[in-house]
Formats: sequence, C-alpha cells, structure tokens
Amino acid sequence: MDEKRSPSLPHVHVPVGTEDLAELAAAAQRCQACDLYRRATQVVFGEGPTPAPMMLIGEQPGDREDLSGRPFVGPAGELLDDALDAAEIPREQVYVTNAVKHFKWEPRGKRRLHMKPTTSEINACRGWLEAEIAAVRPEVIVCLGATAAQVFFGRAFRLTQSRGVLEDGAPWASRILATFHPSALLRMKGGDEGEYTRVRRAFTLDLAEAASAVSFRSTRVRYRGARSSASA
Ligand code: SF4
Repeated sequence: MDEKRSPSLPHVHVPVGTEDLAELAAAAQRCQACDLYRRATQVVFGEGPTPAPMMLIGEQPGDREDLSGRPFVGPAGELLDDALDAAEIPREQVYVTNAVKHFKWEPRGKRRLHMKPTTSEINACRGWLEAEIAAVRPEVIVCLGATAAQVFFGRAFRLTQSRGVLEDGAPWASRILATFHPSALLRMKGGDEGEYTRVRRAFTLDLAEAASAVSFRSTRVRYRGARSSASA
C-alpha cells in the first residue's frame, strides 16, 4: 500500500490515492503516531456517505464511542441527532467524525473521564482527518467545539468570538462553520434552564446556517436563511 509521510507529520502513515473509507479506517487501526492508542479500545473512524454534502467534526470519541467503535453514538450523539432533525438536516446525508481518533481518558473511580487532547496529539491525527475530508469532499464542514475549529483556524480561534459564522473553507470545503460541541450542551442540562434553552436554540440555528450553504438531495431546509428571520 502506498503511504504518505507529511513533512510536518513524519510519523503518520496515511494511505494515499484512496477514497475508500474502510481502507483508511483499517489503516488507522494500526496507527501509533501518538500515545493515545495505548489506553483506548480501538480507533473510532468517521461514518457516513461518500461524498457527503455536510461533514461534522467533533473533538474525540467518548466512552461509549470507544467501546462501540462508532462516532456519536452516546448521549452527545442523541442530542446531535435531535438538533439535526430540528434544523431539518437529513442525518443520512451527513458524515460525522472527530479530529482525534482515539479516546483520551483518565480513571476517576470506576469511570473513564474524558481528557482534552493536546495540540501535538491533534496534529498527530491530522493526516487521518485530511484523508477523510479528501474522501468525503464536503460542501460545508461544521466544527463541533473549539478543538475541531482550531484544526482549521489555528490555536487563536475562540468559539465565544467566532461561533456560527460561515467562513471560507478553502482548501478543505466551500465553507466552514464552528459551533458548540453537543457535550457542552449536555453539561449545561440541569442548570439554568433558560440559558440551556437559549444555547440549544443557538446550536440548532448554527446547524441551519451551515445547511444554508449545502445542496441536500431532495430536501428543503426549513431554516434556510434563518438568521435573517429569527434571532438566537
Ligand atoms: S489518536 Fe490519531 S494519531 Fe494518535 S494513535 Fe490514534 S489514530 Fe494515531
């Protein structure tokens, strides 16, 4: 198998010339480009159609994703599915993945507590994400959370300042938009109900804004141009 070594990522061996996600995922299972493979159960690669008009990128797999080997299958995935439905985005036309493919965690009693990946771990995994983007060829990329957004916009990116804005996506896609990670919304549940409702609505509107840059197959997006007629 031909492999690509990036000058900046000499330890990453990503198959080149393939848009076969199964082949990429199989190759990623052998990846030891950073230490995260040591404690994780398995690589969690992305899922969805190829090509796909919309690609959603989170931070890393969670506990449930690590065990199942599939992205966004836990509570955050359920919240994401509900938000996509509220924005009338056809879930079956969306590709979902993470910036980092192995679950980073530390023990806390009987639980495995999520740990934020470092910049070097995110950079180590970047070759796999770029290979996925090349295979999926999305029209719009939605970054779920600051970690994914920083892959494209750099470490200075702040979700609080630049959330919900359709940016030029070259060379990865036509447009890129960053919004909340659904896990952040989950953490707000049980707190200030008004604030949770406001953020949840903003999340849906952000997804709808991203959808306004996409041509879904035989689907009309209810929130197309939503920002001109509704406020978050
Ligand atoms: S997190 Fe990414 S770069 Fe690190 S070992 Fe896993 S697949 Fe390789």
